[in-house]
Parts: sequence; structure tokens; C-alpha cells
Amino acid sequence: MSALDAELKKALLRGWGYRSFRPLQKEAVQAALAGKDTLVVLPTGGGKSVCYQLPAALGKGLVLVVSPLIALMDDQVAAAREAGLKAEALHSNLEGSRRSEAYRLLASGQVDLLYVSPERLLVGDLAEELAPRLVLIAVDEAHCVSHWGHEFRPEYRRLAEVFERLPKAARMALTATATPEVREDICRQLALREPERFIGHPDRPNLVYRAVPRHDQAAQVLDVIRRHPKQGGIVYAQTRKEVDRLAEGLREAGVSCVPYHAGMEASERRECQEKFLAEDADVVVATIAFGMGIDRPDVRFVVHANTPRSVEHYQQESGRAGRDGESAECVLLFAASDLIRHRFLAKKDGELAPERERALEKQLREIGRYAAAPVCRHGILSEHFGAEYPAPAKGCGACDVCLGETRSLPDEEALLTAKKILSAAWRTEGRFGAGYVVKLLLGKPDERMASRGHDKLGVFGLLGKESEAALRYWVDQLIVQGFLEVDEGDYPLLRITSEGKALCADKGTVRLGTAVPQARKRKGRKPARPTMEAEPRADEALFERLRAFRRMIALQLGVPPYVVFHDAALLEMAALRPRTLEELRLVKGVGEKKLERFGPAFLKVIAGGSGDA
Ligand code: ADP
Ligand code: ZN
Repeated sequence: MSALDAELKKALLRGWGYRSFRPLQKEAVQAALAGKDTLVVLPTGGGKSVCYQLPAALGKGLVLVVSPLIALMDDQVAAAREAGLKAEALHSNLEGSRRSEAYRLLASGQVDLLYVSPERLLVGDLAEELAPRLVLIAVDEAHCVSHWGHEFRPEYRRLAEVFERLPKAARMALTATATPEVREDICRQLALREPERFIGHPDRPNLVYRAVPRHDQAAQVLDVIRRHPKQGGIVYAQTRKEVDRLAEGLREAGVSCVPYHAGMEASERRECQEKFLAEDADVVVATIAFGMGIDRPDVRFVVHANTPRSVEHYQQESGRAGRDGESAECVLLFAASDLIRHRFLAKKDGELAPERERALEKQLREIGRYAAAPVCRHGILSEHFGAEYPAPAKGCGACDVCLGETRSLPDEEALLTAKKILSAAWRTEGRFGAGYVVKLLLGKPDERMASRGHDKLGVFGLLGKESEAALRYWVDQLIVQGFLEVDEGDYPLLRITSEGKALCADKGTVRLGTAVPQARKRKGRKPARPTMEAEPRADEALFERLRAFRRMIALQLGVPPYVVFHDAALLEMAALRPRTLEELRLVKGVGEKKLERFGPAFLKVIAGGSGDA
């Protein structure tokens, strides 16, 4: 190990309490220290902040962090300070007294790490004032500079002007969004100079993905929540109305939860968000307005009660689970009708330009395929983001397909079943909805059917042995594979496509999956992680006591509980039961500053006392 390697490792352990780097962290830090410009693309939870905070910890000069997330800055500063950094922030929401204190410290060279909003950096001559000590400029959420990304911020476009006045500092752009267009756009727009690119693998191995057909939204959401008692989670729904309805149902079922959507007053929204961050509420039920600026690292599950608009959206929203690297679960409740609704919403203000329309259709097809094809979910996601997924022989062990909860029908059976369903759609000539066609196949007559003589058709009762839920799921799967389509009129009509007709003539291939009934009390299983096996089991009662104690301290300090310690650290404490500061220092996530500040009190809790904050 080189001297620099050793120094970096020591700094990581001292500040953050981690023994090893996550992939590409060390490389990014080394490049930055060598004065090179860098592009760092790591998935959520990949540990991007260490890439720019560690250089600040070495005391070689000032690191400037440009971030659009003003709401988050105070928490980021608090967390950096707990790692022993002299951190400050400058943004428009800062109180006057804190602002002048920050300026005073900056002027006297007593700041290692400065967070600024892009707006603040663009005005006046802050850049010139920082220049002498500045060694690195980090641009967080760098995809905001790109039109191609999903969160364009016009101010980001003007950063390059400021950077021109700061030629000596290295530049580091960080993002979790990895499509090639966005990447190149970032390098160009931020005027990175021959940047070194550090592109991480997009897979999140600690997430267990499940995609299941939706048949009872409220009950299925509750089912997931019940697998995670007292744990933090997010439920995403498509509309405000659905958010309110789901949240009310969950509250009635005894779940500690808060709603969050754009229709609420700003103050109300802030209050709900703070409750969730402070662990006063376990679950937040939200539209996708909730997310930017959620840094709670111990979110143990994310449920999508509706199908999201694209795989990118899904990756980003589900990615808020398990940022701490511990196991977490992401469940998508799929219905093809959601895709139809997305299409309808996208076009409600008029027809789209042909290229937008093609892009939209592609997005919907891809998220549909993710949700309904019986294919390893980790594999589909990785490939979507341009990375190969080397699936282990026994499957990933962390998705419903590989865990054997969703089964593929054998090819011949799939084809035969598909042909039966397609024939029914064909015979009804696209004049009926999916519900009607399913009833026809099940052989459940009603007046409408009898009056049209449909109960005399050959397809009547052709799949009478199957359940209605299974048939609905297959219809959805045939839709996302393009064999059926749905008319978006006032009444959604199911119609066979030319591909569907071709399949009926045995031209083409089809895949159908079916849910395998599970034992009632399924636990969110952990993905295979060999290193976990040797670990001692945490004492759950002690873990709960430590969490309660952490909450109390966080409340006193006015910071979110994760700033004090992560769940992962508490779990390890509850398993190892350290008795001395020396033993506590060995726990992952316990850096020197935290050891000194919180160590003695936590040791008391572990020893059986109540602690003493
Ligand atoms: P990102 O910004 O890429 O989503 P963060 O910087 O928020 O990721 O880090 C995610 C989590 O991983 C944080 O809780 C952080 O403390 C933790 N972490 C960062 N680096 C390491 C490491 N080398 N070992 C263990 N945990 C780490
Ligand atoms: Zn899998």
C-alpha cells in the first residue's frame, strides 16, 4: 500500500468509522487530489459524498460543494461535522446570524467544506473570495445541468462561467443518473477538462425487488408494511387522491404514517417530511413530489402502489431504499391500466411531437416489461442502464423471480395460454374491456354476454380452471409484450394487434409468468451475502433501546437520528455489545468524533442503563 493509500484509509476510519472504501471512492479521491477533473457516477447509496468530503478531511484546502438541495444542506453540514469536518453552508434560507458566522470562519480560513446553492455562487464575487484556498469544486446532482436528465435546473447551466474564474481548483461532477447522453452533457456543460470518468455498476445488490400484479392495492401495500414492523418506508401512489385514501386506510390499520403531496400546504408538507426524518412516522405515503432531498439512509422498503412512468423513475424512487447498504425491499404493484393513464396524462394537452411520442411509448414499454416479464429484476435494471449483470447460477437471490415467487410458464404452455386469450380478444372484435374478455374466458356468463350470444362462443370458459387474478395478469403481460392493445377512449377496449394475430399463427414467441402462492407469513428475505453469515445476531430489544436513545439525542441536537448513528451501527452494537470505548471504536460507522461525543452514553445504554444525554 502506498503512503497516500494508507493516509486515505486512515482518514476514512477516523472520520466515518469505515474500514474499506466502496467501489471507485478511493480512485475518485485520488484523482481529485492529483488535481484532475472527474465525473463520478455511482448509484444512490454508493457513497458519493465521501468522494468530496474525504479530500476536505485531509486539511489541504477548501472543498466547495454545489448542491441544489437547500432543504438538505443543514443536515449534510451536521453529518459532515460529526465526521470531524469544519463544514458550513451558504444559501438563501440561512438565518442572518449563521450567515455572518459562516463568512467570518471562511475569511479566517477555518472552513474545510462549504456547501453552496448554485444561485448563491452565481452572484457577487464569492468565487474570488474562495479562490485562494480552494482545491476542489464538487457539483452534486450534476444531472441537473442536462436537458436530458429528469431534473433540469437552469442555474446549473451558468456554473461553467464561475468555474472559469476558478481555474486552479479540480472539478468533480457527481450523479446517480447514468445514461450516456447525460454523462457527456455534464462533462461539456460543466467544462470539465479531460475528466477521468468513474462509472460504477448501477446494480444495488442489497435491494430485494418484487414486481407483482395489483389486485387489491390497499391490502397489498399493507402486506408489505407488515413485513417491516417499526421500520421506515415510502409508499408511492400516482395521484393525490390515492395518497390520501391509502394513508387513511393505513392509519386505520394502525400504521404510523403521514401523507405527502403537492396539494398540501408547504408548511404541512414540511411537517410531514420532518416527522418521517425524525422517525416520528414510520411510513410516508406520497406522490413522486416526495423524494428530492430525502436522505434518510435507513428506509427499509419502497412500495409503488402504481406503476411509475419509466424505468428511470423507478430506479430513482425505489433507490431511496437501503442507502445505508443494509437489506431493503422494493415492491412494484403493476397494472397495465397505469400505463394507459400515463399515456393519457402525457397527451392531455394535445398530441405529442412524433419523437416525443416514440420516446414515451418506449418508456412505457420498458417499465411494463420490467414489471410483467418473469425475468430477473436485477438483470433487467442493470441492462437498462447499460451494464451487464452477471447473474449467479442460482439467480440473484434478491428478486421475486429468482426467489421462486414468480414462475415462468414453460414455452409451450405459455404459447397455448396466450393463444386462448388472444382468440377471445379477437372474437370480441375489440369492442369490450379486459374485464369482459377475462369473464368470457373464465366462463362466467352475464346478461350482456348471453344477449350477444357470447356464451356460445368456442372461447367461452376456455380458461375456466384459472383464477381471475391470473388471467388479469396474463392480459397485462400480453399488453406489455405488444400482442394486445388497449384503446384509450372513455371506455378502455381490449384489442388484438397484428403481432397478436401473428402469434395465433405460431409466428413469434411469448413469455408468461405466474405468481406462485406463498406461505402466509413471508419474511422479506435477505439477499445472499456471504460476509453476513458469520455475524452474530443482534439483540432486538437492545437495538430498539438504542434507537429510542438515538432519537432522544437527535431531538436535543436538532438533527435527524441518522446523523447521530446509522441503523447499521446500532445493529452492530446490539450484536457485539461493546463494553469499552476501544471496543465501540470497532463498530462500523463509529468515527473518532462520534466516539468521543456519543460513545460513553451509548455504552451505558448497552450496559443496561438508560444512557445520559
Ligand atoms: P450517495 O450520495 O451516493 O447516495 P451517500 O454519500 O449518501 O451516497 O452514502 C450512502 C451511505 O453509505 C451513507 O450512509 C454513508 O455513510 C455510507 N458509506 C459511504 N462510504 C462508505 C464506506 N466506504 N463503507 C461503508 N459505508 C459507507
Ligand atoms: Zn433475480
